[in-house]
Amino acid sequence: MITLKGIAAAPGINIAPAYKFGKEEFEIPMQPIKAEDIPLQIQLFEESLIATRKEIIELQKRIAQEMGQEEAQIFDAHLLVLEDRMLIEEVISRLKKDQVNVPYIFSEVLKKYIQVFSKIEDEYLRERIADLNDVGKRVLRNLLGKEHRSLKDLQERVVVVAHDLSPSDTAAMHKQMVCAFVTDIGGKTSHTAIMAKSLEIPAVVGLGETINKIKAGDMLIVDGTMGVVIVNPDEETLRIYREEEQKLRGVAEKFLQVKDLPAVTLDGRTIDVAANIELPDEIPSVKVHGGQGIGLYRSEFFYMNRKDAPTEEEHFHAYKYVAEEMKPYPVIIRTLDLGGDKFLSQFDMPKEIKPFLGWRAIRFCLANPDIFKMQLRAILRASVYGKLKLMYPMITSIDELKQANTILEECKEELRKIRQPFDEEIEVGVMIEVPSAALTADLLAKEVDFFSIGTNDLIQYALAVDRTNEKVAYLYEPAHPAVLRMIKSIIDAAHANNIWVGMCGEMASDEIFTPVLLGLGLDEFSMPSLAVPQIKYILRSLSMAEARKIAEEALSLTTAKAVESFMQSKLKEILK
Ligand code: PEP
Ligand code: MG
Repeated sequence: MITLKGIAAAPGINIAPAYKFGKEEFEIPMQPIKAEDIPLQIQLFEESLIATRKEIIELQKRIAQEMGQEEAQIFDAHLLVLEDRMLIEEVISRLKKDQVNVPYIFSEVLKKYIQVFSKIEDEYLRERIADLNDVGKRVLRNLLGKEHRSLKDLQERVVVVAHDLSPSDTAAMHKQMVCAFVTDIGGKTSHTAIMAKSLEIPAVVGLGETINKIKAGDMLIVDGTMGVVIVNPDEETLRIYREEEQKLRGVAEKFLQVKDLPAVTLDGRTIDVAANIELPDEIPSVKVHGGQGIGLYRSEFFYMNRKDAPTEEEHFHAYKYVAEEMKPYPVIIRTLDLGGDKFLSQFDMPKEIKPFLGWRAIRFCLANPDIFKMQLRAILRASVYGKLKLMYPMITSIDELKQANTILEECKEELRKIRQPFDEEIEVGVMIEVPSAALTADLLAKEVDFFSIGTNDLIQYALAVDRTNEKVAYLYEPAHPAVLRMIKSIIDAAHANNIWVGMCGEMASDEIFTPVLLGLGLDEFSMPSLAVPQIKYILRSLSMAEARKIAEEALSLTTAKAVESFMQSKLKEILK
């Protein structure tokens, strides 16, 4: 049994065998076979060589068409590996001699070849290692009957173990089969972690090198609340964790009792508690957890896991569905926020050295008015089916906001011309997630109907800490006095200009901050559905007077650690 420590990314405990995803490894368990099965194993091996050959020839044809003959020739070397008599004969003779499964023998022979090649001082032969690796994986995939490994087609409950997962990998996961995931890299507010919360599966990220201690098939306990992964636990540990799992469920049930009640403080102030969603599929979960609307619809996820970009009609139907389902509650659609750690195959976005500071979000949309307008028109058209609001991400200046609004006006004008109805009063807001926007919140407030504070980005930009980098995760401190001061000044600027202000970053779902945010005057909290009942419960346990005192005291402290321990103790008192 070994215990690995990572970053707690999505809460909960689950226990299942490890499924290694991504970097495929030649780690096939050895299984003895009977002598009479040898011909069958040989046939299986030959069939997989033929299937692999077919795959490579098809790939070669496609590359020739798309990129040219020269690039396609690279695959000739791959085809040669498949015809290597020495390799094939060695597999067959070892199969006859050792009488174990052919995938295991093939992987062992391949490993031996790779080892031999890597020791040879010959540039050409060294380059062949990559070919061997590539072809080897293809043959093994065919031998094991795994056409293309995808998290969509899993057949049994597993914990996905990967170096990294992209937000689209996570979005495509088979919810019933993936019961947790652990990754080598990543941070608490990376979009991969955010997706885990939406899917309601525990996740531990940022395990670093220690992740290599996990082998395919190892039994894992994933504790996403504490950020711990236990490999091959003993009976006693399993028992303790099963009990802990029960306890967590009990606590969740206590919070669920208030899920359909409004979030009214003890002295009568009503707060809106809404949910964040990435896909319309999450609406049932929002309802189950008592979300009073959608405070952030991350519309870019609609583009993921598909070949072509969605059409205006598809956008329209998705927004109409969400608007109708959530009626009479509001739904805030955030316009396309690409870039950073979210990329799409449909758009040819250049590789950047610092994507979080690059061609992201509103910058991409303003540079691609056709893509932007298609989405805006769809939102406007859907606005008559419920209470839709729209919000721009990553606004850094009044100029950007005005440019976006000019395009929005053009869309409205186009719709008026064709007599297409839309909500003329549709509220338009901005995310405050860049320090320049926070510092000019008083100016921006005069131009919009609302703010939503995006702490995930605001913290990374204010503290200069990449939100996806596990190496600097210890510096990603929502309780940092700089962050609290910024939040206070944004809320004050909004209220001084008579607009409401919400928060849709992960901080809004972190229970230790609830009293402080309430005390600072936040009007709306938006979060992964799972967190809604607990936050409602806390809001209902506090008075404004008490919350203001807590906020004042938290703001007087000088370090994030001091703020955190102060808030922990306050939360304990509130929940006692
Ligand atoms: C944020 O930055 O806080 C936010 C809510 O947006 P996203 O996490 O999608 O960047
Ligand atoms: Mg953001």
